[in-house]
Amino acid sequence: MKIIRSPQSMAAWSERLRREGLTIGFVPTMGALHDGHRALIRAARLQCDALVVSIFVNPTQFGPTEDLAKYPRPIAADRTLCREEGVDVCFEPTADTMYPEGFQTMVTVPEIAQRWEGVARPHHFAGVATVVTKLFGIVRPHLALFGQKDYQQAMAVKRLVTDLNLGVTIDVRPTIREQDGLAMSSRNRYLSPENRQAATILYQALQAGRRAIQAGRRHASMVERIMRQTVEQEPAALIEYFALCDPASLAPLTHITGRVLLLGAIKIGTVRLLDNVVVPASHQVRRAAK
Ligand code: AMP
Repeated sequence: MKIIRSPQSMAAWSERLRREGLTIGFVPTMGALHDGHRALIRAARLQCDALVVSIFVNPTQFGPTEDLAKYPRPIAADRTLCREEGVDVCFEPTADTMYPEGFQTMVTVPEIAQRWEGVARPHHFAGVATVVTKLFGIVRPHLALFGQKDYQQAMAVKRLVTDLNLGVTIDVRPTIREQDGLAMSSRNRYLSPENRQAATILYQALQAGRRAIQAGRRHASMVERIMRQTVEQEPAALIEYFALCDPASLAPLTHITGRVLLLGAIKIGTVRLLDNVVVPASHQVRRAAK
């Protein structure tokens, strides 16, 4: 496995492969890799000739009071995971080479960014959209994989690829969970053992919401209340938001008539946890007909 640090060398490598007619798959990450990342890398490996994983803790997507400085950076373990999974290039640029002096262009996806995570983290999606656009410009992948775990992020990426004609196929893969349902996340390692226990409440709340819909509930406010009440049973958890929305537009729903996306964010201690589930229309019809 090659480790490439400079954007120029990365671009030259991709250019050479493209000229040979090979397809390039790409998994962008911030490192501290876990089985969620591993699933993306495995799925990518099956779909392309050459596979690039980037590890870059992107400063522009962190707010001033967020965890940029203390974000985990276990680079040796990350490289081992990439080697195990047959990654061809681990691209590890520095912040200075990605954002040299004079840098000023930002990519925004204003409608998607205005809601949910965008309210809690006002500059987050512009940072994500900008770094993904830059990484696509450097790596020039044919295919890039993202996790459903960060649903809104995946939607923003799909939108910008279409809007800016970037010509990259975006594959969104299911969320990988711990045995007790907690969505895997690099930030889970900040949780104390008691808070790790408490953290399962977020997925339980989403499951309670899903069950309510499958049992025939059609008022979004009622389902939202059920999710909130579930989390309120856990004293260590603080609700940031729960929402029922249209899976395509992310607009909030008042009535459930088809596929619905349940989104939730809570805080446990200082750790923010984010998760979502999509409830397919077919499940609702089958259950409602009973
Ligand atoms: P991150 O390193 O947190 O920026 O995540 C890199 C990619 O991995 C993003 O596309 C995430 O959505 C995806 N990802 C993170 N956690 C999971 C998970 N538990 N299951 C599937 N994909 C994930």
